[in-house]
Amino acid sequence: MLDFNPRPSTAERINALVDAALIAEREATPPRTYLGASRLGHACERALQFEFADAPKDEGADFGGQTLRIFAIGHQLEDLAIRWLRAAGFDLVTQKRDGGQFGFSVAGGRIRGHVDGIIADAPAALDMRVPALWECKTMNAKNWRACVKDGVAVSKPVYAAQIAIYQAYMEPSVPGISAAPALFTAINKDTAELYHELVPFDADLAQRMSDRAVRILQATDAGELLPRIAANRDFFECRFCAHAERCWSLVA
Ligand code: SF4
Repeated sequence: MLDFNPRPSTAERINALVDAALIAEREATPPRTYLGASRLGHACERALQFEFADAPKDEGADFGGQTLRIFAIGHQLEDLAIRWLRAAGFDLVTQKRDGGQFGFSVAGGRIRGHVDGIIADAPAALDMRVPALWECKTMNAKNWRACVKDGVAVSKPVYAAQIAIYQAYMEPSVPGISAAPALFTAINKDTAELYHELVPFDADLAQRMSDRAVRILQATDAGELLPRIAANRDFFECRFCAHAERCWSLVA
């Protein structure tokens, strides 16, 4: 007998298996027990507090297989950028002698960050001050073009905040790193174009982010909820927030 019911294609069935494997892998990863300094520039302090407290995400808001693949591809592209910069003559250090990633841990381990790399030396023609923080991001063509046009501080303030606070918190273990502009590298995922920007240390921004981190820890310890970023759920950030249901179901 003929069966005209549509069946999943081979591609769909294989992708479902791949996605299930990636999601299982992620679920097996222990949750973060600290406030990630890379996120401190996020627009909403309450959203950061939800993340820090590991509040469950809204139904269906967790990362799916495709998003996890996008993250994984980004990591691989960053490895390529390391290779390219080294080939161009940069002494780019990405691991400590024991093999671990460079980073910092402050406030009793409750605020942490891991840096992409430290430039120990650069080609003389660039006249770069070292040691310098190196931060690498991958972007689609639209975001990459905005970054080239306006610079990282305007187009990606979250990354600028990350750079500032990393420079500040890495200073004790890498003296001089905050005196040298950081090198920010952005890879265009669509075209493989590279953008590089020297980002001078912004002490005010680092201080604001550090104060913010303290506010989040203190409010969470006291069982208090930080204010919403908006008065209306239609606000841009809220529309993409993984905790929007939770947030707006609360009284304040
Ligand atoms: S829904 Fe909006 S206000 Fe609530 S945590 Fe998310 S971004 Fe912040």
